[in-house]
Amino acid sequence: MEYVGFATLPNQVHRKSVKKGFDFTLMVAGESGLGKSTLVNSLFLTDLYKDRKLLNAEERITQTVEITKHTVDIEEKGVKLKLTIVDTPGFGDAVNNTECWKSVADYIDQQFEQYFRDESGLNRKNIQDNRVHCCLYFISPFGHGLRPLDVEFMKALHEKVNIVPILAKADTLTPTEVKKKKFKIREEIQQYGIKIYQFPDCDSDEDEDFKQQDQELKDSIPFAVIGSNTVVEAKGKRVRGRLYPWGIVEVENSAHCDFVKLRNMLVRTHMQDLKDVTRETHYENYRAHCIQSMTRMVVKERNRNKLTRESGTDFPIPVIPSTTDTETEKLIREKDEEVQRRHSEHEPEHEHSHDEHSDRPLEPHSDLGLDPGPEPEAS
Ligand code: GDP
Repeated sequence: MEYVGFATLPNQVHRKSVKKGFDFTLMVAGESGLGKSTLVNSLFLTDLYKDRKLLNAEERITQTVEITKHTVDIEEKGVKLKLTIVDTPGFGDAVNNTECWKSVADYIDQQFEQYFRDESGLNRKNIQDNRVHCCLYFISPFGHGLRPLDVEFMKALHEKVNIVPILAKADTLTPTEVKKKKFKIREEIQQYGIKIYQFPDCDSDEDEDFKQQDQELKDSIPFAVIGSNTVVEAKGKRVRGRLYPWGIVEVENSAHCDFVKLRNMLVRTHMQDLKDVTRETHYENYRAHCIQSMTRMVVKERNRNKLTRESGTDFPIPVIPSTTDTETEKLIREKDEEVQRRHSEHEPEHEHSHDEHSDRPLEPHSDLGLDPGPEPEAS
């Protein structure tokens, strides 16, 4: 066979996606004080973003009463990643914790809704995608397995987001206890019908090493982690860890906890799969649901007013299920305005291409110009 050249397709895709950059949105949830903020710092600060501080633990403690979002632009070997961390209110402090998952579930839905609107709107090119790709759910090491609240929380979210359960503060447990707790939690997850993120099966033609690693990863659920914001000296090396009178626990030592496993999973091996599942399963569910209720609404409207618009081709405007007629009208108006606006914006568009990059980060960070788009690369 002659060589035509489509074998370069993977390279073309690669070049394009590197140029465009990647994004990932990670949410943390669970009782307050379980080390969520500390872990996020440990996960992304040391390795990927050495000199930057997210909020420190003290600031967080006073702050975790509402959902906060933080974006960092990270670059490694020329590959850009826009990482968004969504921190949710640490529940457990309040006397009444019923429905504490509600605001989190609403938040996830809102991101889907926004995406759905944008996707069916006029400017689909530069959609800001804020959909949540993964939720690390922190489980207390002090309970006996899952508490009712954990079950309730995860069940409220499991159809909306990829849940990865985390056994927090693993340094407070002995290895045997960790093992037992993990087993119990896995059992309960099954028993209560909680659908956590499923690692994809690995291909049968993968090598044995890879298969074994994959199996180990699956058996590690829930990841037992340790977080720390301090660097200590262990055997002459400076490592991130926790210093106790009897010794040091090292965050990145896989004999001490699953931190590295978790980070590799999130960053190196399963980031794309988490995004794919978000898009293909969770978002798709939301979208189907929305379209269903919109269709119902349109049919109802038609039946009510048979004299009006005849066409069956007009794509219904995305509206949330509980919408009313006046809201629909408002949306149509908004769309009209958008058309007008885009018309009038049309001429200076080239001049603005820089702006388009600058509205990518959600919350402009204070420092340096790290994020202005990709360097113009000779193509
Ligand atoms: P959050 O409320 O879940 O965000 O929890 P923080 O990250 O603010 O941590 C609460 C407290 O637990 C702080 O004093 C941390 O130093 C401590 N902490 C964080 N991670 C760990 C851990 O892995 N092990 C232990 N023993 N303590 C931790």
